[in-house]
Parts: sequence; structure tokens; C-alpha cells
Amino acid sequence: MADHAGIIDGVEIRPAGRGLRAAILSIGSELLLGEISDTNATWLSKRLGHIGVDVRHHHAAGDDLDELVAVLRWLGDDVDVIITGGGLGPTSDDLTREAVAAAAGVELEHRDELEEAIIQRFARMGSARVSPSNLRQARVPKGSTAYEPVGTAPAFAMTISHPERDATTEGGATRVYCLPGVPWELQELFVRDVEPEIMSLAGEGATLTRVVHAVGLGESRIGELVDPVVRDEPDVELSFLARDHEVQVRLTVTADDPDVARQQSQPMVDKVIDALGSAVAGIDEEGLEDAVLRLLGDKEQTVATAESATAGQIASRLGQVPGASHGLVGGMAVYSTEVKRDVLGVDADVLEQHGPVAEATTRELARRAQALFGADWGIGVTGVAGPAPQNDQPVGTAFWALAHPDGHVEVHGRQIPGSRPQVIARLATAALDLLRRRLLEA
Ligand code: ATP
Ligand code: MG
Repeated sequence: MADHAGIIDGVEIRPAGRGLRAAILSIGSELLLGEISDTNATWLSKRLGHIGVDVRHHHAAGDDLDELVAVLRWLGDDVDVIITGGGLGPTSDDLTREAVAAAAGVELEHRDELEEAIIQRFARMGSARVSPSNLRQARVPKGSTAYEPVGTAPAFAMTISHPERDATTEGGATRVYCLPGVPWELQELFVRDVEPEIMSLAGEGATLTRVVHAVGLGESRIGELVDPVVRDEPDVELSFLARDHEVQVRLTVTADDPDVARQQSQPMVDKVIDALGSAVAGIDEEGLEDAVLRLLGDKEQTVATAESATAGQIASRLGQVPGASHGLVGGMAVYSTEVKRDVLGVDADVLEQHGPVAEATTRELARRAQALFGADWGIGVTGVAGPAPQNDQPVGTAFWALAHPDGHVEVHGRQIPGSRPQVIARLATAALDLLRRRLLEA
């Protein structure tokens, strides 16, 4: 498979798994008892996704031979590739070798080179005696490919045939890769031996995912707008990813090479942008903050913030963008009422009359930030982030204001749902998105 992986022109390109279907089988009773979390499955899934393989199942099974054989057969009926983790140790409850041999209908056989590797490992650790139980690890299913161990447990791959199955791979076979459960060993073996083989099974092609970032609309509304547009496009896979700050509409396209995939994806991206209108905050690598700074740059304008509830998050998020200094002049976290009054210069009467979390106060914050920093635009935010209500105002009470270059100030307010970090992040997003929309209009 050609190596297309990487970010090209802001779009993530990866090799196409070309419909290769995979299952991850994590083995060990401790998983079912809830004693450990299945982080191996998470890691493997991500990694397989990056090479375009379609992961269909995560399964955890206990240390029970019959159970394991049944699960291997059942998964093998549905997928081209199974990756198992765990159960390769020397003790009697490590049953992966036996289970795979039984599922493939073969015996276990002793491999001299594996025995040699085990003996050498013991010698390196200063122990001359290798116990018979350790030599169990030199046995693998007949016909399997054994990999050179990276830690203690030898890994191997075995083909299980399913003549009746309609599969992508030749002869309807399922390739089973058996890796140790220890995460670093599993990862090293996967990268060194398994991934290259899966990529060669998968064949040529490139998959890319285009991302349309949307803010200011709920996930369900975004789905309603986008679904009809993409519904009749068989070659595009649509998914939604809700983040604290935004909803990502992700369009995945596979073709013979990255240029073709990109060409095919562009009309769909355009349709999604049309459907979402001003809710679109950015495309591909460009997020909300990037868009705000790009628009400020286009207009050669600047912004400054005075942030109460978000305590600097708006300025900080803008500051993450390389080259932000052309648009962001500065910001002030004005947390206490005294700082709002004595340092930022908010009118004491306004604070007295309306309190710290109020429309009028937020308006003053935006106006003072603009004036104090000499910026074209000023942002002010106040709110009750929780967990407790404040001055009889419920958690989630939030105001954001934008002082325009012409001097007028607009203020918005609503209840923002969520935990404290979510309220803070969503308030920051609301303020940034307001500026973005006004820059688009101006
Ligand atoms: P070893 O030869 O080291 O015994 P093994 O293949 O028998 O290898 P296990 O005994 O199943 O592996 O697991 C070894 C350790 O790896 C466990 O103690 C656990 O901490 C970790 N581990 C096993 N499976 C997983 C998993 N699915 N996710 C995360 N960690 C795991
Ligand atoms: Mg073990």
C-alpha cells in the first residue's frame, strides 16, 4: 500500500483499508471483573482507523478455552482481521495459543527459535534455569508466523479459514494476530510486525476526512441540516463529533489516490457549508479561533478581552493560534468586583446597581477592554460557572458582549448548560463566535 499518511494542505490523509474489517479481542478475566480498563482496544482502534481499517467489534473475553474458541469463530465469521491482546503468558490461565489452534483446527507445535529466545532472555536476567511453564511460550499453532518477542511473551499470527464467508481477503480467511496484553509490548509488536502486514492486505488507496466545524447550533439541529445533503452520497461516510466548543461534521471519502479523494469530497464539503450557513466556524484544520484571527487579519483589526467567568480563556484560546499577535492585543482576567472597578475602570455605580453578573456590567467590560487596550473590538464576559449559584443567580447564567469599532456595544445572555468547565468553555465559544459572525458581516 502506498504511504499516503499525513496532513496535506490541512486535510488528514491516510491509507485506505479498502473495506478491511477488523475485530479486537481483549483476553483476560480481569477485564470482565472490571479490574483493568481495556486501553489496548482503544489504542488499537485508533491505530487501525488511521490506516483506514473498519473496526467492527471490541470484545473482552475471560480466560476460558471454550469461550475463547467460540468467540474467535464468531468474530471470524464477520471480519477479515482479528487482533487479540493478552493470554500469552506462561501460566495455565494463558490460553490464547490453545484457543487459536483449536479455532484453526490445528495442533500446537514447539518452535526451537522461540525456545532459544526464552532461554536467552532468562540468561540476560541472570537466571540459568528456564521452567517448563516458560517453555509453554515456545509453542504456537502449527502453520502460524511467530514474531520475535519484544518483551517476554512471543506473539504470532495465524490464518483461520471460513470457506463459507464472503470476505475481502483471499479464500474467505481471517488473519488472527495474537499480541501480549502488556500495553507497551502490544504496541511495539503491532507497529513493527502487524501494521505493515495489515496494510499490505488492504491494498492501494487513500482515505481522507474533511471536517466542517460548526458552532452555535446543537448537535441534533446540525444533524437535521446535514443529513439530507449527504444522504444520497454512497461514497461519503458521515459522522458527527460533539466537542465542548463545537460540533465537527466529518466527511470521509476513499479513492485511489489523495487528489481524487479530495476532488470527490469538495462538492460535499460545499453542500454542508451551504446547509449550515453562518454556523460554520472553520474547515478542516481551521477552527473557530483560527477563523477569528484570519478574519481580523483580513480587515487589519484587533481585539481585546475583559473576562470575568472565563478568566482569560478567550484570550488564551486566541493565543494558541500561531501568529495571533496581529489580531489579539491583550486581555484581562477581571475576576473580583474590585478589579473590575479599580483596575479595568468599570463604573462603580453600574456594579453597585446591577451586580457583577449582569447585562449592563458585561457591556461595560467590553467597552473598557476596547478602550484600555486600544483595540478595534472589545469582548466582555460574565457568568456563574458553578457549581454553586451566586447572588441568587443560577449556575449557567451567562452574558457576553462585543464592543464594535463604531462604538456601539451588543450584549447577549442565556443559560448555558453543563459542568463548570463546560459552562466556561461554551461561554468563551459564544463570545468568539459572536465576533466571528460580526467580522463576516462587516
Ligand atoms: P504476560 O506474558 O506479560 O503475562 P500476557 O499476554 O499473558 O502477557 P496478560 O497477563 O493478559 O498478558 O496481561 C499483562 C498485563 O497487561 C496485565 O496485568 C494488564 O495490566 C495489562 N493488560 C492486559 N490486557 C490489557 C488491556 N486490554 N488493556 C490494558 N492493559 C492490559
Ligand atoms: Mg499473563
